[in-house]
Amino acid sequence: MAVPKRKTSPSRRGMRRSHQALPREAHADCSNCGELKRPHHVCPQCGHYDGREVVTAGRALKSSVRV
Ligand SMILES: [Zn+2]
Repeated sequence: MAVPKRKTSPSRRGMRRSHQALPREAHADCSNCGELKRPHHVCPQCGHYDGREVVTAGRALKSSVRV
């Protein structure tokens, strides 16, 4: 089995991990209720999209938004 010749230093390890940060999740204010929602998605709080109610508010969509 191939084995690393020497231990990875804290500096090297940090340099490698400098690219591993997760990007921030996209979010926007709902134009109807002002709650945070994902852009181009139905608002899970009030069920509105593009200025009208397209699904009944609450319940089923609650888990679809991660901000
Ligand atoms: Zn809303």
